[in-house]
Formats: sequence, C-alpha cells, structure tokens
Amino acid sequence: MQKPGEKSGEKGARDAGHAPGGSTRAVHAGERKHHQDHALTTPIHQTSTFWFRDSAELRAYAEGRHPRDEYGRYSNPTWRAVERKLCELEGAEEAVLFASGMCAATTTFLAHCQRGDHIVITNDCYRRTRQFVQQFLSRLQVEATVIPPADTIALKDALRDNTRLFFTESPTNPYLHVIDLPEAAHLARERGVLTLVDSTFATPLNHRALADGADLVLHSATKYLSGHNDLIGGVLCGPAELVAPVRNAVGVLGGILDPHAAWLLLRGLKTLGLRMERHNANGLAVARWLEAHPKVRQVWYPGLPSHPDYRVATRLMSGFAGVVSFEIAGDFDAAVRFTDACTLPYIAPSLGGVESLVEMPLLMSYWDYSPEERRAYGIGESLVRLSCGIEDAADLIADLRQALAAV
Ligand SMILES: *Cc1c(COP(=O)(O)O)cnc(C)c1O
Repeated sequence: MQKPGEKSGEKGARDAGHAPGGSTRAVHAGERKHHQDHALTTPIHQTSTFWFRDSAELRAYAEGRHPRDEYGRYSNPTWRAVERKLCELEGAEEAVLFASGMCAATTTFLAHCQRGDHIVITNDCYRRTRQFVQQFLSRLQVEATVIPPADTIALKDALRDNTRLFFTESPTNPYLHVIDLPEAAHLARERGVLTLVDSTFATPLNHRALADGADLVLHSATKYLSGHNDLIGGVLCGPAELVAPVRNAVGVLGGILDPHAAWLLLRGLKTLGLRMERHNANGLAVARWLEAHPKVRQVWYPGLPSHPDYRVATRLMSGFAGVVSFEIAGDFDAAVRFTDACTLPYIAPSLGGVESLVEMPLLMSYWDYSPEERRAYGIGESLVRLSCGIEDAADLIADLRQALAAV
C-alpha cells in the first residue's frame, strides 16, 4: 500500500545509484499510484474544469499557496503524467503538451521570438514549419536565414547580433540529415542563440538532443511517441526557465491536447522501447536491401555508410528509426508504379506508427511547388519516403521486391 507522505508510486527510482534504462522509463516514469480505487493505470481526467470547495480554497490557489488544477486549458492530471514521462525520457526538467507537433513548434517560436529578432532554420525540414517561419513569423518582423542542414560553416556565417533561435530537425525530412548537434549548439551558445531541435525522427531513445547541447527539443507526438497512427499531438521539453514562457503562451493561444488523446499518448509511450527496437531493425534491413537493388538509384538512411552524415549519426545516435528515403531508377511514372504496387505499406502521409506507410514527397508535401522550387529543395521526381512499421522485415522486403518488379 502507498504510505502517506510517500512521494509517488513511481517505479525504477528506488536505488539512487542505478539509472533505469529507456524502456523502463517509458513504462514506469511519470505514473503515480495514489489514485482513487487503486487503478493500476493513470485515469483519463476527461474534464474541462476543476471545482473548489469554497472561496477560501480558490483564494489560496490564486495566491499560490495551494498549487492544483484550475481549468483545462492550463493543466490536467493526465497531461502531467505524460509530461513527467517525457521529461524522464528526454532528461528534461519540464515538458509541455500541445494539440499537434505544429502547435508545439509555432507556440515555441511565438513565445521565444520578438519583433526584430532573427532566426536561422535549415532547408530540409517539415514543410509547414518552414511555411510558418516564412509566412507568419515574417509578418511579426522576425527575419529568417535558411541554411543547408549539417553545414556548421553556414550556421556560423548566418548568426547575427539579433539572432534569437537556431531551429533544425535531426534527422531531417525527407533526406535524414543528422546535425552535429554538439558543434552546432556550441556555435549558437557562443553567440547567445538558443538551439531548438525537432527530434521527431529520432525519438528520445535514439538520440538525446538535450544532452548533446540543444536548449529545447520538440516532437510531433503523432509519430513514434504515440506510435499507432491514432492521434495528433506535440510536446516541447527543456529547462523550466525556457519552457515556462511556452506553457504560458499555450494557455493564451489555446492549442492544448485533449485529455483522451493525452491518455492514448501515455499508453503508446509504454511500448516505445519495444517499438523503436523493431523500427530501427526494419529501417536498417530495408535500407540495406534497397541499396543493393538495381532499380533503386540512391538510398538515404543515416545508418548506411553511403549517407553523407553516417559518421555523425553513428556517433550521436543509438538507432536510426524506420524512415528510409530512396529514388527509384526511373522517372516520376516509374515511382508511381512502384508506390501503387506496394500492398503492405499504406499510401499515406505521416510516419512512426506500427503500420508501414509509403509516399512520394512530390505528390504529398510538395505537390503545389513549381519544378524550380522542388529543385531548390532537392525533391526528386522519383523520390519515395517509406516509414517502416513494426511488421516482419522479411514481409516488408518481399512486398518491396514485388513492387519493384512492377517498375
Ligand atoms: C509530422 C511532423 C511535424 C508536424 O507534426 P503534427 O503532429 O502533424 O502537427 C513536425 N515536424 C516533423 C519532423 C514531423 O514529422
């Protein structure tokens, strides 16, 4: 039984000398067992508001003498369990959940950038993040310099006296560039610039961005963190001092995660260790197999020695996850024939779930770009992005073999 005054029912933290591994933290961290009715799992607090016994209780809360929940846009106990778990996984002091990965990014930019600031972003990134910076932040007179990923010389040249933030994904989408984060974050810190990393493609189990120098790390929780292609969510992790303004901003801007989706995320996170082992193994097996196939022109996967960032990736990451990008040896129509012939992966945007998904970036994210713009972003006409799920690698490869035969 839980003894009164015992901090929580959190497992895996009893022996102060032993730090639990990622899979153990994914299962147990953040879960507190002092709930009503002794339920093992954290309940869904499906409530919009929280009641006060009397005005004195409200007053004690308002004066900061009695921290508790007040209203569902500011906090929720189910969120807190998820936020604590993500803190433990990222090695962060604070975490805050959002309605989507985009909401995590936009709220963070808005909370940390002021009129007249300058930011640096990398050009291989989630299309909507770039769109937010170029179309929306620019209206607030926040200027952006776009640099190639993994180019620390370009980063050094881009930093100015009024630079506030350096934003990058690692690995990037869709070419899976891995940033030399210790070096990039050091350059940024020397100039008083914050480094914000979108670590969606890595997950905290494959790469610890904060330990490698990032000031803040965000994820689209829609992808590996929830892992089942069944919710949209986002999270930002970092030191309390840098997360507090973002939590304040989400309370104003309102892009909060529904408690039910938070609970699904909590449930998904418990199998993160198992799922990532399989995504890592499937990604590597499929990438190696594709690279040896005559109908594949080029494969981008950070775990292959042929990837330009292989050395950085193997130094910083413990696995390379399930996304493999590759060019079919042929034209646009050949890649379409390949994609349509796949029977196991679904044709769909997104990644990081148990089901394999396949897409052609030209048709999915870049369909309305002119050929010049596509060339500028390097999006090839026969480029395919495959997100390997947790199926058996042999079945995935058998399906890819028959789909390539259709090319
Ligand atoms: C999907 C994705 C996003 C956006 O996240 P949503 O949850 O769809 O809003 C941002 N960054 C990366 C790298 C992504 O893959």
